[in-house]
Amino acid sequence: MRTPQSILETVFGFQAFRPGQADIIETIQRGENILAVLPTGAGKSLCYQIPALLGDRPTIIVSPLKSLMDNQTFALRQNGVDVACIHSGQSRDENIRQWRSVTEGQAKMLYLSPEQLMTERMLAAMVKLRPALFVVDEAHCVAKWGPDFREDYARLTQLHQRFPDTPIAAFTATADGATRDDIADVLFSGRGRIVVQGFDRPNLSLAVTTGGNKRAALLEFMKTTNGASGIVYALSRKNTEDMTEVLRGAGYKALTYHAGMEDADRSEVLNRFLSEEGVVVVATIAFGMGIDKPDIRFVYHVNLPSSMEAYYQEIGRAGRDGQPADTVLYYSYGDVSQRARFISDGNGSSEFKIRERQRLEALLAYCEAPKCRRRVLLDYFGDNCEPCGNCDNCLSPPALIDATDNLKLILDVIEATGARFGQGHVIDVARGKVTEKGQARGHDNLPQFGQVKHMAEPFLKALIRQATASGFIEMDIERMGALRPTDLGRAVRAGQRRFECKDFTKTTRKTINKSRGKPSAVDLKPDDLDLLGKLKARRLELAREADKPAFTVFTDATLMDMVRRKPQTLDEMLAVNGVGPSKLERFGPIFLEVLRDGV
Ligand code: ADP
Ligand code: ZN
Repeated sequence: MRTPQSILETVFGFQAFRPGQADIIETIQRGENILAVLPTGAGKSLCYQIPALLGDRPTIIVSPLKSLMDNQTFALRQNGVDVACIHSGQSRDENIRQWRSVTEGQAKMLYLSPEQLMTERMLAAMVKLRPALFVVDEAHCVAKWGPDFREDYARLTQLHQRFPDTPIAAFTATADGATRDDIADVLFSGRGRIVVQGFDRPNLSLAVTTGGNKRAALLEFMKTTNGASGIVYALSRKNTEDMTEVLRGAGYKALTYHAGMEDADRSEVLNRFLSEEGVVVVATIAFGMGIDKPDIRFVYHVNLPSSMEAYYQEIGRAGRDGQPADTVLYYSYGDVSQRARFISDGNGSSEFKIRERQRLEALLAYCEAPKCRRRVLLDYFGDNCEPCGNCDNCLSPPALIDATDNLKLILDVIEATGARFGQGHVIDVARGKVTEKGQARGHDNLPQFGQVKHMAEPFLKALIRQATASGFIEMDIERMGALRPTDLGRAVRAGQRRFECKDFTKTTRKTINKSRGKPSAVDLKPDDLDLLGKLKARRLELAREADKPAFTVFTDATLMDMVRRKPQTLDEMLAVNGVGPSKLERFGPIFLEVLRDGV
């Protein structure tokens, strides 16, 4: 009998389900509506592909991007699965051919975009087709408040009204509680299960740094990457170009990617990233969604990301193969005040601005956290964990100092100047710097003028940032980032509360310990490393011949498993994680040859 487990093994070549997969598959098979929230790389696709392959009637999969559809259909075809895909990048004839393969029963799955599905003609055709299931991928695009909201996704709300007997399975990697309810509401009036799989990605190391020189910090980090491929995210186009130069100057294979580039140039960058080893893409956030490369070894932010959600999604692109990967966020105070200004100058409603500002504060609290970062990150998404041992704070806990008296002095200056000025001016007054702005307002005559002369400017900045992050000071975005004490801050002034902060007088660069117990190429014996190199070279040749990314032949994790097991026969090869019958037939003998020669 064909079961989910047997399909997992025979079609996809995997031995075991990952957390959450089996449960989601069962729910779909029972015919219930479901919204599944799984972190990137958890293996969402399999959750609907397996029920689709087990059912009699076709499954319709709504996906927002052509590149996503192409990736998915390509991967399925590699595994010998017949699948159809309709999108605007294909000719009309091709689309008709694809549709026929569904109506004639060859293809059990049809991928298409929401705008293609929600036409009257297509919906009428769907009534005749009687699909077993509608799948909505990247379902957060229906959330009205979310950053990725799409009009055409909102129209999917008609699906459950027009097909009340056809279950809907929605998938997303990012959605907080309110967003989840919103999605479930739009897609199936809340009548269905919501499953949230743990957000933890233990194979990703987490580190945040600030201060010092941005370029130097990046280059310092790059030394730890051993020529692996990764993404460097920057805020502006200009920034991406600058950082690309910096990396190239140091001998790295760095490429720029941003929305202002020609389509052809962008695909070229994407292609090289997917097919060559050791490519570093320096990109704005235009680069990301739909990139299905499982072996990205690091994600480095040179600027503050736009929110915790965005940050989680962006770092989540690293290490999808489950192997160790590093993430570093570098940010400066300039980023923070720029973001605050963006929010206040933006033309959203005041409700919107308040939400945005809270999101910024959550992000800052994460950046300034003195304890395990993973805990802070997971806590934000309503999940939790023990101290992780794989973040900068766990590996080298920051020293905390009592900064109550220092904070009091700063709060005095803020109050004395009417709580109407931003960080720059507050620090000038506190340190007794004579400026036109200060003189014009008589601030140089205040008793507080120059009362913290003894404290260095970087220390004061760090102090204010941490006090802001932990809620002792707030930034009034309506007034150009004016600083203001909160209730907590007032309690400090009144001597009722103490304030501890990280000791920024001793800035230390923390390096993440590279060996984390999980097998990685770094731990291999020289002979095995050599063999892995040969397997990768063969993979690259095959990928070039097919004009497809290397990992579509086999992922790094699969090649590592091959090295570990050293199969000598096709039967043994089938035991390798990631080798199914279809890939065995196509690539098995070729890789066996390498393995036999290699040992
Ligand atoms: P996402 O949840 O980000 O959409 P994908 O569906 O693309 O993740 O899966 C990520 C990677 O994990 C893919 O390379 C996929 O083949 C692999 N994968 C999925 N399920 C399993 C499993 N049960 N065992 C091993 N690998 C799996
Ligand atoms: Zn930790």
